[in-house]
Amino acid sequence: MKEKIGLYPGSFDPITNGHLDIICRASKIVDTLIIGVAINENKKHLFDMNERTKLINEQLLINKSKLSNTKVLTFNELLMSFAEKLKASIIIRGLRAVSDFDYEFQMTGMNARLNSDIETVFLMASEKHQFISSRFVKEICLLKGDVKSFVPPEVHNKLKEKLNKN
Ligand code: ADP
Repeated sequence: MKEKIGLYPGSFDPITNGHLDIICRASKIVDTLIIGVAINENKKHLFDMNERTKLINEQLLINKSKLSNTKVLTFNELLMSFAEKLKASIIIRGLRAVSDFDYEFQMTGMNARLNSDIETVFLMASEKHQFISSRFVKEICLLKGDVKSFVPPEVHNKLKEKLNKN
């Protein structure tokens, strides 16, 4: 049978417990899950592409018993072109509150017009991670708030290191 490849794209700046939860759940419904770290030159990131990738890889290693079918790649092109190159048949997205819906609905519609063979599959954020976003994690951390329960410990350390330096 054909290998089912899933692509989970995002900026992961940095990876949070919410992302990790989606990765764990998505890895169970595909044969191979590729986490696509978007290199968007127009977006200002706290962590550069190498740091974001390294933080994700670290989590894959820590959770290797359940995430052995998962790997990280970076991409700098149209999402659908990248998905085609990888021979991915599904794109995975996480869906939090209603606020995600509008953007995701539009993006899915546009992507389907570009290639209707690639299906976008949404995984509902778990109740525990519903409110976690990389953006708020960075903002809270910048203001010296406690983000320990939102990100893995290794990411927490890196955030503190980075924001204390700046
Ligand atoms: P963010 O939106 O936090 O900046 P990304 O652009 O890296 O994060 O998001 C990548 C994907 O992960 C998107 O589909 C986004 O909706 C999803 N996602 C982000 N945070 C969560 C979460 N807490 N629970 C479920 N999905 C999430």
